[in-house]
Amino acid sequence: MKAERRATVSRLGQVVRLVLGYLSWPLVFFGGLLGAYYAFASAEPMVGLVGVYAAAVFILFLLERYIPYERGWLQSDGETVNDIGHTLATKGLLQAAGLIAAVFPMYAANILQPLAALKFGLWPSDWPMVFQVAIAVVVAEFGLYWSHRIAHEKLFFWRFHALHHSVVRLWVINTGRFHVADSLFKIAMSQIPLYCLGAPLHVFWWLGAVTAFMGILTHCNVDMRTGPFDYLFSTPRLHRWHHSKDLREGNMNYGENVVVWDLLFGTYYNPDRPSSTNIGIKGQIARGFLAQLAQPFTKNGVREILGLPKKSS
Ligand SMILES: [Zn+2]
Ligand SMILES: [Zn+2]
Repeated sequence: MKAERRATVSRLGQVVRLVLGYLSWPLVFFGGLLGAYYAFASAEPMVGLVGVYAAAVFILFLLERYIPYERGWLQSDGETVNDIGHTLATKGLLQAAGLIAAVFPMYAANILQPLAALKFGLWPSDWPMVFQVAIAVVVAEFGLYWSHRIAHEKLFFWRFHALHHSVVRLWVINTGRFHVADSLFKIAMSQIPLYCLGAPLHVFWWLGAVTAFMGILTHCNVDMRTGPFDYLFSTPRLHRWHHSKDLREGNMNYGENVVVWDLLFGTYYNPDRPSSTNIGIKGQIARGFLAQLAQPFTKNGVREILGLPKKSS
């Protein structure tokens, strides 16, 4: 009897895991956006958004323990403090970018007088918000795609982006592990076109929300089944290939939110097998937080990042 009951319980557990595998991606992404909708309608939109974001991180943290994609990635890699440090440094930068977004249109109107008419004429401000956000996501993705692809293909930029790829495990906490210079480049490339088109501040908020929820999803170590979503959004499955040590897999799937530019420019990669767990880089990243920030600015630091032997003089 006991053995029978145990078998039933374990079968039930299997079904629950499978259902969670299919539901977790849409639940966290669309649930996060629904939370963002209420946060933006509240008296404290930013506090509300941070609350929803924290809840999503917590849910993913639990799911990582219940249905991990790779059990070995649950072990600490000694980088958690650095991961959080880089996340906070980058988040501070995003906040500054948000402030600039608030005042930039005014400056643009004053300083770039000849362009002002063009600016106000181009953005479809009277369209429903959902269409405006969809346009913003695709326009921003063009900048995200190329800044990301350049960061992989040009050594000058790789020295900053390597920090993000140096991790040997993916989990929700190392989503924001970016060198500040890498983030700055990415934000400029993705947001300046939107300023120039005259996108309103609210659209930037929504773009920020989409990017935030997509980011924690692409890095989470949860065995999610994303099926058709793989052809529209940057899913955990696609992003794991991007972190592969094998560059035939790693120099693919540059999309941060949507994959439209990967599909158009021939870097979409999604073969019919489980995505890679052999992730990381060939070079060596410095140990401490400040050392990691400084490393791309010194000659020997760059040689370490590239996996070349140090020069003595
Ligand atoms: Zn990358
Ligand atoms: Zn990543």
